[in-house]
Amino acid sequence: MSDLSSLPELDLLVVGGGITGLSLGVHGARAGLRTLVVESGPLGGVSTQRSGALVRTHYEDPGNATLALAGLEHFESFEERYGGPSGFVATGFAYVPTPEEARSGALAARVEMLRGIGVETTLLDAGALRAIDPALDVDDVGVVAYEPRSGYADPATTCATLADAALDAGAGLRPHTRVDRLLVDSGGAVAGAVLANGVPLVARSTVLCAGAWSRGLALGAGVDLPIRPTAVKLAFARRAVAAHLTVIDAANGIYFRPDATGTTLVGRRTWTDEPLRTPDAPLPAVDAAFTGDARDRLARRLPSAAGAEILGSRAGMLDMTPDGLPYVGPSPASGLWLCCGWSGTGFKTGPSVGAALASWIATGAAPPELSAFAADRAGGERHSAVRSPH
Ligand SMILES: Cc1cc2nc3c(=O)[nH]c(=O)nc-3n(C[C@H](O)[C@H](O)[C@H](O)COP(=O)(O)OP(=O)(O)OC[C@H]3O[C@@H](n4cnc5c(N)ncnc54)[C@H](O)[C@@H]3O)c2cc1C
Repeated sequence: MSDLSSLPELDLLVVGGGITGLSLGVHGARAGLRTLVVESGPLGGVSTQRSGALVRTHYEDPGNATLALAGLEHFESFEERYGGPSGFVATGFAYVPTPEEARSGALAARVEMLRGIGVETTLLDAGALRAIDPALDVDDVGVVAYEPRSGYADPATTCATLADAALDAGAGLRPHTRVDRLLVDSGGAVAGAVLANGVPLVARSTVLCAGAWSRGLALGAGVDLPIRPTAVKLAFARRAVAAHLTVIDAANGIYFRPDATGTTLVGRRTWTDEPLRTPDAPLPAVDAAFTGDARDRLARRLPSAAGAEILGSRAGMLDMTPDGLPYVGPSPASGLWLCCGWSGTGFKTGPSVGAALASWIATGAAPPELSAFAADRAGGERHSAVRSPH
C-alpha cells in the first residue's frame, strides 16, 4: 500500500497511532475489517509515550473499573494475545485513601463494589501492608485498598508490539501522515478523511483516536466534544529501595511507581493542572518547585525518598472531558466513531478497548462494558479523589 490515493474503500480508518489507535488497528484487522491507521507523527502516540503507564483497577465507578479489569487481563497475557512484550510488571498496587474516604466507609464500600465485578482487591491495615511492602508508611491513614495483580507497563514496548501485531493482522499503518479534515458527504455523514496532502481516504467507519486533537476534527462533522487539552508533569526520584508497590496516594495528592531505571516515577494528582490553549501549544517546563514538591510528598509515603536526587522530569498532555470519562462509540454523525477524551487514564485500557470497539464496529452489537461512555451522556464536572490522571 505505497500509494494512498489508490487504496480501495476502507472498512475502518483510524485517526491517531497512540495506544488506542494501534489497538483498534490490531482488533479491526483481526475482525476482518480492511483497516488503516494514520498517525501525524511517529507511531506510539503523544499522551501514550509520556504516560506513567500505571495498570490498576481501583476506580470509583463500575464502568471504568470493568474496563480497567479487562485492560489488566490484556497486559497479563500480552505475549499470547499480541506476540510480543509490553514491559508489564505486576508490582502489586495500593490505593491510599484520603482520611475522609477511610473514615466514612467510602473506601470499604468501593472495595466491595470492585470485588463484585471481579476485581481482586482487599482492605489492608498498616501492619498487613508493611508485611507486603516494608518501604511504605501508611500509619497516618491506617488502611489501603490493595490489588496484588496490578502494576505498570512500558509505553514504547507496548506500542511496538501492537504495531507489529496490527501489521501481522493485515492492517495498514501510516506514520507521519496527518489527517487535515473529515470527509463529510452532502447528507452530513462522515465518509472518511482528507489527508494534509489533499488525498481523500474513503472509509465506511472513521474512528477518532486522536486525543485532544479529536475535538477539532469532530467539529468538521458538526460534533462538538468538550475535550480540553491539559498539561501534567512527572518527576523521577532516585530510588533507595530495590522495589516498592505501585501506589495512588490520594491523601498526599500523588501517584508513584518504580521505574526500570532505578528511579521512582512520581506524578501529582490534581484537577488544577495547566490547561493548554490548543493541543499544539508547547508543553510547560517542569521546574524545581514541581519536582521538589513531588519528592517531598513522595517521602511522606516512601520515607527512603527523603532528599532523593531528582534524575529527570517530563510534561505530557491529557485530553480531559468534563466528567473525566472518555467518549467511546458512535458519534451523532453517521460513519464517525469516537475513542478519545481519556482524561489521563487511557493507557491501561488501550488494548482491551480496541478489542471491544472493533467488535462493535464489525458486528453492530454494542459491548455492555462501553455503555457508560456514550458521547451524548449527561455528565457535569465530576472530579473526585479517585478519578484523576494516572
Ligand atoms: C504524564 C502522563 C501520565 C499518565 N499516566 C497514566 C497512567 O498511569 N495510567 C493510564 O492508564 N494512563 C495514563 N495516562 C494517560 C494515557 O497515557 C492516555 O490516556 C493514553 O495514552 C491515550 O492514548 P491515545 O492513543 O488515545 O492518545 P495519544 O497517545 O495522544 O495518541 C493520539 C495520536 O493522535 C495523533 N493525531 C492527532 N491529530 C492527528 C491528525 N490530524 N492526523 C493523524 N494523527 C493525529 C497524535 O499525533 C497522537 O499520536 C497518562 C498520561 C500522561 C501524559
